[in-house]
Amino acid sequence: MSPIPGQTPTYEDYARCIHCGLCLNACPTYRLWNLEADSPRGRIHQMIHVAQSEIQNKATSELNHDVQGDGSIATQSESLITDSFVDHISKCLDCRACETACPSGVEYGKLVEHARARIERDYERPWLAQVTRDFVFRDLLPSPHRIIDFARVLRLYQRSGLQAIARAIGVLKLLGLSDRERFLPRIDDDFFYGRFGWTYPAAGPRRARVAFFAGCIANVTFSRLNEATIRVLTANGCEVVVPRGQLCCGALAAHAGVRDAARDLAKTNMPIFLHDDFDAVVTNSAGCGSTLKEYAHLFLFDEPEHAQARVFSERVRDVTEFLAALGLTSKLNPLPLRVTYQDSCHLLHGQKIREAPRTLLRAIPNLELVELPCSEICCGSAGIYNVTQTETSLELLAEKMHHAKSTRAPIIVTANPGCLLQLRAGVSIYRTNQEVLHVVELLDRSLHS
Ligand code: SF4
Ligand code: SF4
Repeated sequence: MSPIPGQTPTYEDYARCIHCGLCLNACPTYRLWNLEADSPRGRIHQMIHVAQSEIQNKATSELNHDVQGDGSIATQSESLITDSFVDHISKCLDCRACETACPSGVEYGKLVEHARARIERDYERPWLAQVTRDFVFRDLLPSPHRIIDFARVLRLYQRSGLQAIARAIGVLKLLGLSDRERFLPRIDDDFFYGRFGWTYPAAGPRRARVAFFAGCIANVTFSRLNEATIRVLTANGCEVVVPRGQLCCGALAAHAGVRDAARDLAKTNMPIFLHDDFDAVVTNSAGCGSTLKEYAHLFLFDEPEHAQARVFSERVRDVTEFLAALGLTSKLNPLPLRVTYQDSCHLLHGQKIREAPRTLLRAIPNLELVELPCSEICCGSAGIYNVTQTETSLELLAEKMHHAKSTRAPIIVTANPGCLLQLRAGVSIYRTNQEVLHVVELLDRSLHS
């Protein structure tokens, strides 16, 4: 059996869970179903069972090997990964709200991502599911050319009228795709990939020189967000370099347990951002930032990339974290608006950043920030969760939109492209007539209003 690449949780990592249950009410899936098996504590229990059984099986196999001496070490690990285990681990959003709630310091994200890597190695998925996963994680996301080709096809579908026809004649419903199609982002007219290799000078005296991490799908769906991010950074005295050759951060692959793909992406990205002495590597995606800050988990302590990852990750900053620490110097114009803020899980729970986005929003004159009830609970986006677990995602979105509506704020602000997509879908489904923006888009609007 091939080892799972990267770090493996130790006994202490699992044993840190003292079964107190303080995480249960923070867990979106436990809140929905009230099932122990779909709680953080229940999932950790299942992971321990699988890890222990694997050790026992390995010991038994080695013993059999000694007795039989036939050269074959039969492992039974496949049978440990049951459909039930895969189901409960797949239903986890990897939102890490349980980490924030846990008094015992359980690093749940590390555990669940390893469990998924174990599933990826040992579980036989249906043929079509495996082919689709291989295509998305190993062929599409690591290749800007394929992303661009794929985006052009989607753009044709969206602009040619095909999308409207498919919706009108109900073919999407027939194929069982109508719910998933709601989360399809609108493809940009002009892709941000064209800006790779560009340097944007600081407005006024230079206060910092940063590298911009642009993401992957965001380059064909959130080009305007990326441009707004650069405008806000340069307006505040940052020279912004968009390094050529950067690839997807690997977050989606790492969260799905496809570690080899995530590691390959990390190996490409790190030298690109380390070859120059940037003050920071800045991202506007909380999901990317969380993974970039944890690249070291993908490598064993004695692999050379581990030390490199530690240096790299120390430079990574979410754009809200970076700007709040740097301090805004650009003149912000008043925006007499009521806005509410949805915490992005990988910013709040993954990176423990709560105040920075709120501080930036409060800096906008005349803006009224109202707290969103349960803003720390996932909106159901969670990477590709809204595609793989659409029904649950929609249930979480319904609750989120109920709370968003209760704030009577015409604008919902968040800090992650995935959350933007999810909340925009929510606005359209529930016709709340709210606008959904990234924090930097609102800052940009204030700068230029
Ligand atoms: S709060 Fe932490 S220690 Fe308590 S049950 Fe949850 S994961 Fe375990
Ligand atoms: S990561 Fe989120 S969904 Fe998964 S167990 Fe923790 S709180 Fe629940």
